[in-house]
Amino acid sequence: MAVEIAPNGPLLSPIVAGMWRLNDWRLNVQARVRWLEEALALGVTSFDHADIYGDYGCEALFGEALKAAPHLKGQIQVISKCGIRLKGKAHPYLVNHYDTSAAYVRAQVDASLKRLDVERLDLLLIHRPDYLMDAAELAESFHALKKEGKVAHFGVSNHSASQFELLDRQWPLATNQLELSVLEHKALDDGTLEQCQAKRIRPMIWSPLGGGRLFTGKDAQALRVRALLEALAKDYGVSPATLAYAWILRHPSKPLPLTGSGRIAAVKEAVDALKVDLSREDWYRLWVACRGHDVP
Ligand code: NAP
Repeated sequence: MAVEIAPNGPLLSPIVAGMWRLNDWRLNVQARVRWLEEALALGVTSFDHADIYGDYGCEALFGEALKAAPHLKGQIQVISKCGIRLKGKAHPYLVNHYDTSAAYVRAQVDASLKRLDVERLDLLLIHRPDYLMDAAELAESFHALKKEGKVAHFGVSNHSASQFELLDRQWPLATNQLELSVLEHKALDDGTLEQCQAKRIRPMIWSPLGGGRLFTGKDAQALRVRALLEALAKDYGVSPATLAYAWILRHPSKPLPLTGSGRIAAVKEAVDALKVDLSREDWYRLWVACRGHDVP
C-alpha cells in the first residue's frame, strides 16, 4: 500500500492520519493504542504531528501509546514539523514567530524524538515559511540531522512555489504540505500543486474536509457544496466525506490527504476514497459549486 512520495523520498501510506486534534479525542493510553492498531488495520501507517500540536502536548500522548505498545514502532512512519514558536504558559514569547535557525531546528527535533519515543523521524517538515530563513544554513542542518540518523527525509508546509524552490535548490525536498479541499482551492491556482507535479513530488493535504466546515458550515458556499456532495455521493454509492477525499485524490499531483477525525469510521471514509473513480465532469461540478460561477 505504501507509496514513495518523491524520488528517493519516504514511503508513506496513501492516507495519512493527522494528529493535530489528538488531545481533543480524550483517549486513555489503551484507547490510543487501540486507535493506532485500528488505523494500521485500514492500511493507514503514517502519522502527522507537529511540535506545537495540543499546546506542545500531542506528540507526548502519541509517544505514551508507543511506549505501551513498542511493537507498533516497526510498523509506522512518523512525520513531525517545527519552525513555529507558539506563545503559551511554557513559552512566554512576546509574539508568535517563526524560527528555522540551526540551533532551534535541532532543539525541536531532539524534543520531538523524546516526546514521540522514537529514534528517528521519517519526515520532518518546516511548518510555515520563515521570512528570516537562511536556506543554506537550513540545508546544513538537514544534512547534519540526516547524518546523525535523527531524520530520514525533509520537506516543507505552506510554502509558496518560490519559497519551496529556494530551499529545494539547497536540499531536495520530499513534499509541500498544503491546504486543499472542495471548499478551499488556493493551491489549485497559486502554482504549488503544479510545482509538485513538475518535480514529481506528492503534496500532503491538510484540512481535506475544511476542518469540518464541509459538514457544519452554514454559509452559502458550504451549503452549496454540501448539497452537491450529498447528491453525488448517492450516485457513487459512498459517503459525502469519501467523495470529498476522492475530489482531492483526483488531482494529477497525486496528493496524500491527512485525516483529522478521532473516529476510526471517518478514517475508513478516507481510505474508501482510494477506490472511487471520480469523473472529470463531476470534479468540475464541485469546483463550480465552490466558486459559485462557471469556469471562464
Ligand atoms: P479535516 O478532516 O478537514 O477536519 C477534521 C474535523 O472535521 C474534525 O473536527 C472532525 O470531527 C470533523 N469532521 C470530520 N468528518 C466529519 C463529518 N462527517 N461530520 C462532521 N464533522 C466531521 O482535517 P483537519 O483536522 O483540519 O486537518 C487534518 C490534519 O492536517 C491535522 O490533524 C494535521 O495533522 C494537519 N494539519 C496541518 C496544517 C499545516 O499547517 N501543515 C494545518 C492544519 C492541519 P470528528 O473528530 O468529530 O470527526
